[in-house]
Amino acid sequence: MDAKNLRGRGTARVGIIGQSLQQAVALLAALSLLLLAPLAWADGRTLLKPGWNMFSPQQDTEVGLQASKDAERQVNMMNDSRVDNYLNNLGHRLSAHAPGYEFQYTYKGVNDRAINAFALPGGHVYINRGTIEAADNEAQLAAVMAHETSHVALRHGTNQASKASAAQMPLGILGALLGSSSTGAALAQLGAGFTLNSLLLKYSRTDESQADIMGTQILYDSGYDPRGMGQFLEKIQALDQGQHRVAFFSDHPSPDRRVERVAQEVDNLGGTKSGSKTNSREFDDIKRYIQSMPAPPSQGQQAQGSAYPAQGGTASTPRLQILTASYGAKNKFVDVRQLLQSRVQNERLDFQVTNASMGGDPMRNASKTLRISYEWAGRTYDVVAQENQRVSIPSQQQQSDIGTQNGTQPDWPSDRFKSFQNSILYMDYPDNWQAYGQGDAASIAPRGGLVNDGNGNQALAYGVIVNIYQPHIDSYGQQLQGRDYGQGSGQNSSQGAATALEQATDQLVAEFRQSNRNMRVIRYHEVIRVDNENALSTYLSNDSPITGGSRETDWLITLPRPEGLAFIVFTAPESAFQSYESTFQQMLRSVRINR
Ligand SMILES: [Zn+2]
Repeated sequence: MDAKNLRGRGTARVGIIGQSLQQAVALLAALSLLLLAPLAWADGRTLLKPGWNMFSPQQDTEVGLQASKDAERQVNMMNDSRVDNYLNNLGHRLSAHAPGYEFQYTYKGVNDRAINAFALPGGHVYINRGTIEAADNEAQLAAVMAHETSHVALRHGTNQASKASAAQMPLGILGALLGSSSTGAALAQLGAGFTLNSLLLKYSRTDESQADIMGTQILYDSGYDPRGMGQFLEKIQALDQGQHRVAFFSDHPSPDRRVERVAQEVDNLGGTKSGSKTNSREFDDIKRYIQSMPAPPSQGQQAQGSAYPAQGGTASTPRLQILTASYGAKNKFVDVRQLLQSRVQNERLDFQVTNASMGGDPMRNASKTLRISYEWAGRTYDVVAQENQRVSIPSQQQQSDIGTQNGTQPDWPSDRFKSFQNSILYMDYPDNWQAYGQGDAASIAPRGGLVNDGNGNQALAYGVIVNIYQPHIDSYGQQLQGRDYGQGSGQNSSQGAATALEQATDQLVAEFRQSNRNMRVIRYHEVIRVDNENALSTYLSNDSPITGGSRETDWLITLPRPEGLAFIVFTAPESAFQSYESTFQQMLRSVRINR
């Protein structure tokens, strides 16, 4: 069930909340524009501040940490301590001058020849080796790193995610935006699909201009020639001609007059300080060292020239990551992790364990053992193999296991229940599931129950959605209230209410179907009792957001409320629905309507 489709577009209730939200977002955007307006500084520099954000800086750190783990599985990390030490030393000289919240910055090299770099919230900065190879001197490399550092300091990632969430998240979470301080925490819990993919939204041209300007200031403040920024941009702009597009510009789209704006900022700062640093021996050494390395293994992502993991990466082949690997005997083992990682092809590793294949004999006249720990499709496995054995990972068994699960494995509902309450109802739910939302709308889902639908939206594959829908029927509210709500107590009124409930339910289903083309009704309305009131039970079948072409079953419960049509949707993949049904029924029995 695609949560975004449950907002019931065009309905009065949603309209009001949507509108006030839009106003709030517009107001906040206006406020942030004021903050971003150039202000005078001692040396005439442009003063920049982070824009509107529904996350706290601490939450930047939390979601950034999770996203960095995902990113490091999905891109080809250099994992070279010499390169990473150099980048960190240089990066920390720069980040010491980054304004705002003091994030813990880390800088790592990516084994990708495309000229690019990216940053995740909380201070995770990734530099492609191609950027180091393309820079003429340390000031130019520092310029790219200062640019990325500025994206972190200005919190562009969670700012973009906040704005996107305001447009995409289920209504209840939007409602929470207006008041609660726990919204960021709720968003942070939405899972890896949210954290990585949503945080890798493209920056706006304004973001880019800000990162260029602040990056130039950071260069200046840390003693580098601030002209390095303009020089490097000019250099890669020249390379970005013809067929050889420079990846940096697709991920960091160029604002107008980019180079000129940077040059202007150097003037604002009072020009280049005398004695400012342009190059170092360390830079020349590292650049030579990287140039002498073998070409990175070719990968689909690199063919696209992007340092970013593919969007919706959950659907692609799971990454094989060698976590540890050692080869030897008795107390003498040598680390062969990098060696094995470099041999991974098409996310598989297949070889015979010999001294030659392990890069040497760590102990003569002893029978050697290879121990590997690796991560594949989000799980960790261990393998032990003896000399001359053949190793093939992931094993066929592991591959077919994952194939049947489609990579999604939500927490099985616990027998213990806890209670959820919002403005519509009270309901018990398994205590290992989580409830999101506030106001009218809520999602209750196991961890792993929310998946990326392939279009960058969070969709519910397992769990429950509660919301209210305003049907397009005149005087609907009065008709629906019927017997239980006062005025009429006669047969006609009750029948009128029943008809209105059916009509409203049909309208809601029609609305679902508008955005879920393959949805169909598999069991038509049946009257059931929920909290001593008549309600309708309808079963729907729909495409599951889980990849692999499977179907899901949606059990729709509709209840008349004075405010509109309250509905509850219990969702699970068709193949798993029966196993979840008793949990869903128990949840439905616990429902108490707010009166
Ligand atoms: Zn940028």
